[in-house]
Amino acid sequence: MRVLIADDSLVMRRLLQATLEGWGFDVVCAADGAEALACLQGEDPPRMAILDWMMPVMTGPDVCRMVRDLKSETYTYLILLTSKSQREDIVEGMGAGADDYVVKPFDKHELDVRLRAGRRILDLQMELMQAQEALRDQATKDPLTGCWNRRVILEVLERETVRAEREKRSLSLVMLDLDHFKTVNDTYGHGAGDEALRQVTQRVMGVIRGYDAIGRIGGEEFLIVLPGCDELCALSHAERLRRMVERTPVAVEGQEIWITVSVGATSLLPGQGFTSGLLVRSADAALYTSKRLGRNRVSFQLPEQIDRVQGASN
Ligand SMILES: [Mg+2]
Repeated sequence: MRVLIADDSLVMRRLLQATLEGWGFDVVCAADGAEALACLQGEDPPRMAILDWMMPVMTGPDVCRMVRDLKSETYTYLILLTSKSQREDIVEGMGAGADDYVVKPFDKHELDVRLRAGRRILDLQMELMQAQEALRDQATKDPLTGCWNRRVILEVLERETVRAEREKRSLSLVMLDLDHFKTVNDTYGHGAGDEALRQVTQRVMGVIRGYDAIGRIGGEEFLIVLPGCDELCALSHAERLRRMVERTPVAVEGQEIWITVSVGATSLLPGQGFTSGLLVRSADAALYTSKRLGRNRVSFQLPEQIDRVQGASN
């Protein structure tokens, strides 16, 4: 574990550094408060710091206050090093955001147990963050494939639809469905079917742009939201995905399973007041066209065409 030591006294820095390195810590040093703060605000900062109280430019308590104001997601455990041992001083130091304090000249055993206490807190915080992340994943990700679940991808689509309308930008939606998936399950078993879904999803996730999103909305059906992408862009993306799946078989337990996908695409025309629900229906209609025309192909449908079709049938 890396620890920052900030003290304006070179002798004290050396002494602390030697002591902590003897205990197996990686030590980073700073000679004043500003240097200490820069280090704690930098890239991949130490998660623990021992800060001298009296330092030039910025005092230890000042550094504590600034670090706490950052409200960063990972916690920094701060220990103040002070020759002050009056009750009021300690109250002030802890009030500034320090987690603990050690009085100079420090006692090695005392410093040791205080560092251990800090480590326990940091370990607990790490576990808590991992648990939170796992919960977040459970609530947002599709457990089989790791892409967004139905609820989240529909939320993303809704948000992007509103944004595209407001910013008068293009937005496309692609719906993708694995062809004859029931046959895959029946022939190779459900485990192989699941693996096929996983591998196809991984391939798609590997080629979409950073700001695109993919979610699984049904058994073998996926939605891909493409912000800033117009009709031509959507068609080329969709065709690329279709070919990518068709070209390479899915490998499951030494077997090669050839998979194809049917794809439906649609695009929002800004300023027309299209809703995300209409986009989903359009992509779905385009997908249906691809299935009807023999699968393993891409079809496109403008949202307005759908309304006209529905209007005619009323
Ligand atoms: Mg000092």
